[in-house]
Amino acid sequence: AKAALGQSVCFYEVSMDEAARSRRALANDLWDAVEKRQLTLHYQVQKSVMTGDVTGYEVLLRWAHPERGMVPPNEFIPLAEECGAILPIGEWVLREACREAASWDRQYKIAVNLSPVQLANGDIVSLVQAILDETGLDPKRLELEITESTIIDDKERALQTLREIKALGVTIAVDDFGTGYSSLETLRSFPFDKIKLDKSFMWEVEGNPQAKAIVRAILALGQSLSVPVLAEGVETQKQLDILQEEGCDEAQGYLLGRPAPIGAVIGVRTQAA
Ligand code: C2E
Ligand code: CA
Ligand code: CA
Ligand code: CA
Repeated sequence: AKAALGQSVCFYEVSMDEAARSRRALANDLWDAVEKRQLTLHYQVQKSVMTGDVTGYEVLLRWAHPERGMVPPNEFIPLAEECGAILPIGEWVLREACREAASWDRQYKIAVNLSPVQLANGDIVSLVQAILDETGLDPKRLELEITESTIIDDKERALQTLREIKALGVTIAVDDFGTGYSSLETLRSFPFDKIKLDKSFMWEVEGNPQAKAIVRAILALGQSLSVPVLAEGVETQKQLDILQEEGCDEAQGYLLGRPAPIGAVIGVRTQAA
């Protein structure tokens, strides 16, 4: 039994070592990903619940790794944040998305995810300003999505940075709303331009009366604060019907459109095309 235990401990250590090596290798590859043009952007449509009109597109990063294939963002973004590669990567996303959107013949908004690491970096305000100048994108068409956790770490500094970004004319959305442990505190501390209701609520809104009551309460909260609410992760017509009944402003999810490369996203034609 002892030998077996020893073996399993040894195996455990080897596999941990393997995992660590694999992470290190991936982190190294991440630094090259921008230069080697392995990153691409997908766009997912956001629509008005009342009219069905397109209001904007969320920009979602994809990494085509030469050996591992498509690495999903949930796997590499935390790693990029840890090793600092999120700074060049995030800059590339912002520039590429703004340049792309500036070439559209329709004035849709783009919503770009901003990592807490990017926000904590003092240069973010000048970076956003520089990219807007460079691409000529109307600042009103850029929305930055941040999660609640972003403003918990160094609250005063984060809020100051957000105020400076807003002063550029860019809007700020709070992402994954309702999953943090201080959602109300988050809303109290900053005048967000949009609340993005986390997709986990949609998974339960049909069958769970409590989830539905919470959704209703968040929509009422948005209404009394005059902040529009967008529901994420809408996959079924029934969910969309509920959102319509409850007066939700916008929706995003597979039912309305999957994230796809810009060429495959209906309703957008670039000037070049
Ligand atoms: P997120 O910001 O909450 O983005 C929404 C995620 O939900 C996306 O996953 C999207 O593909 C997925 N989704 C959209 N509609 C549905 C639906 O109807 N059902 C379900 N089950 N899922 C849906 P994705 O693209 O895998 O991105 C995962 C996360 O990675 C994002 O979550 C965001 O936190 C992060 N991320 C993606 N791109 C970037 C980026 O450029 N910068 C940063 N910092 N983070 C990013
Ligand atoms: Ca988001
Ligand atoms: Ca989200
Ligand atoms: Ca998220």
